Amino acid sequence: MIEPDLTITSRSQLAEEVLRESGQEVNLCYQCRKCAAGCPISYAMDYKPAQLIHAIRLGMDDIVFNSKTVWLCSSCETCTTRCPQEVDVAKVMDAVKIITLRRGIKPTIPRVSSFHKAVLANVKKCGRMFEVGMMISLKLRTFEFFKDVGLGMKMFRKGKLKIIPSFKGARTTWRIFRRVKRIEKGNRSA
Ligand code: SF4
Ligand code: SF4
Repeated sequence: MIEPDLTITSRSQLAEEVLRESGQEVNLCYQCRKCAAGCPISYAMDYKPAQLIHAIRLGMDDIVFNSKTVWLCSSCETCTTRCPQEVDVAKVMDAVKIITLRRGIKPTIPRVSSFHKAVLANVKKCGRMFEVGMMISLKLRTFEFFKDVGLGMKMFRKGKLKIIPSFKGARTTWRIFRRVKRIEKGNRSA
């Protein structure tokens, strides 16, 4: 019997970019939809995870970048563990977010992207999460100054929020950020 040749010979430009960014081969997907069936957020998504993977395969950039799916994804990885083809769907979602920002495309849910940026900037600066600093940074990015103020006050009264950051273990985090920067620089010049 002749073995079928399963070598992937062509990819859409977007699938190629996703592969470079995440190491994930979306062409392995055979549309069983197990990822979509297990996704706890799929009810709110305009395109289910399996549909988004298919759109990437077909190079339908307009659908992928205009969809809210990747910005709603909570990175819970249920899809990743369910995929029989071992496509790490959660990683694909992350890759699409990175590509969206790199191409200068406005995220369909800007608040989520602002949250990611605020968290990352905060951890980079303090070495770990400093909630009050992150909240201020988020509010300055979203202009939602009064949102959740009541909840914040409640947490503050219960001693859940510190007003001074702890830089404990920060050196290790700073080292990680420096290393990632070096890797990214190397990847860009390669
Ligand atoms: S990682 Fe995202 S797409 Fe996958 S199951 Fe969780 S929320 Fe859904
Ligand atoms: S579970 Fe895997 S193979 Fe099935 S549709 Fe999702 S990505 Fe494709």
